[in-house]
This record gives sequence, C-alpha cells and structure tokens, in this order.
Amino acid sequence: MSPSDRGTGASGVIPVLLYHSVSATRRDDPWQVAAADFREDMAAVVASGRTPLTATRYAAALRGAAAMPDRPVLITFDDGFADFADEAAPILAEFGLPATIFVTTGWIGTTGMLSAAAVRDVAAGGSVEVGAHSVTHPHLDLLGRRAARDEIGASKTALEDLLGGPVTSFAFPHGSHRRQTVAAVRDAGFDAAFAVKNALSHAADEPFTIARYTVRAATTRGEVAAVLSGAGAPPAWHGERLITTAYRAVRYARYAGRPVAHPIEGWKITV
Ligand SMILES: [Zn+2]
Repeated sequence: MSPSDRGTGASGVIPVLLYHSVSATRRDDPWQVAAADFREDMAAVVASGRTPLTATRYAAALRGAAAMPDRPVLITFDDGFADFADEAAPILAEFGLPATIFVTTGWIGTTGMLSAAAVRDVAAGGSVEVGAHSVTHPHLDLLGRRAARDEIGASKTALEDLLGGPVTSFAFPHGSHRRQTVAAVRDAGFDAAFAVKNALSHAADEPFTIARYTVRAATTRGEVAAVLSGAGAPPAWHGERLITTAYRAVRYARYAGRPVAHPIEGWKITV
C-alpha cells in the first residue's frame, strides 16, 4: 500500500516540523527562528486543518497500535533551549497545539538551556511531550557501540528520574544514526525515534527513523506553508541513501573523538 492510500490526506504525507531555538531576541544563529515567524507557522498549522500529534501518539499510529487520524502534523523541538518555555510554549498554548521537545540531558541547567525545574514544568503542562536527545549531543553513529548505548540509555534514565514517569521518544542528535544506533534506541525501551532527512513523513514511515523537516532562520513562511500543504519536500525514503553512507566517512574524519560544543556557551564536552 502506498502512503497516499493510508487515509492521511490528498498527498498522504505527514509534516513533522523541527525547530531548535525560538526567540524574539535574535542571535547570530542559523538554527534560531524568530518568535514572530514561529507564531505565523503555528497559525498556518491551525489553518491547514491537520491533526496535531505528539511523538509517541504518532509512533503508535505508525505501528498500528492506535488509529492514524486524518492528516496528522507534528511540531518538535530539539536540544532543550530555555526559550522554549519562555517563547514557544506560550504560542503553542495560545493555538492549542500539542508538541514534543527532545532534551539533551547534559545541557539541562546550563546557559541558555532549560533548567531541571523548567523541564518538569513543561512536562507537567500536559500538552508537551518530553523526549530524550542523548546526554552530550554526539554523532551517535560515529561512537562505539557501548558509548552510543550509554548516551541513549543515560539520557532516558536522567529524564525519567527528573519527571517521575516514562520517556518514550528519542531524537538522534544531528539526525545521525545507523542500523546499530537504531537498535540501541529500540533496546533502551523507546517507542519512537526521530531523524532529520528534511523530508516528509508518511503512514508507512519507519517508527525509529521518522523523517522531519527543519525550520531554520532562513526558512520562509511560504516554505513552511508548502510543507504543511504536503509539497515543498520529498516523501521520506526507507533505509539509508548512498550519499548518507558516504558522508559518514567525512563526518567520521571531522568529528570522531572530537569535543562536542555547547550551543550557546561554546564550551566543549569530550566524547
Ligand atoms: Zn540537537
């Protein structure tokens, strides 16, 4: 059955939007989206008539454990920037939109990132799912098997200890993953994992490498509107493209064994 036959709308594709920092105070950061732009995007999500879902709810539908609603859409955030609580969450609440934030646990409480209390408050609100995003934000596919498993498992444990409940979704830092990384996420007890791909998900997408579309500082509102209409990006493919496999060697030379930088303070974590 093709994605378009699965009751997900005319084109059958399912946009999973990925944001990082959302702020009215602009830094020189290509990943940061202005709060006014984010507000326009959320208005466009509502206008699209799509059904907003959290990560775990969507993964249940992909696995067939829950019904797939008509024309889903997901709004996700990576890293755990403090401005999520201050700027993005109020806009989400204003539009009544559920969302999912994937938190890098080693950055909790550091400059510009959510504090432990803020992560707890975000989860307690009930409409935002908190998922894990590793401890130190490495390219997990470049790590040894044990180190990757430790990063994945320890981020889950840290968040579950903090929140006092299960954490069931994960997002790969940098979107980087390979087969053994995906297996490690599944073995750690997660129900869903999110990649990047800059493609559109669909009802036949894989629940442990769900495709997302990154909204950056340079992304236009027209591009987001196109994605919400089901155009503007290709449907997600299964497996790994040859170019991704080839690029892993480039990333290995560039990043393996090197320190990971904090997104704001610039201090380095050695992994
Ligand atoms: Zn990240």
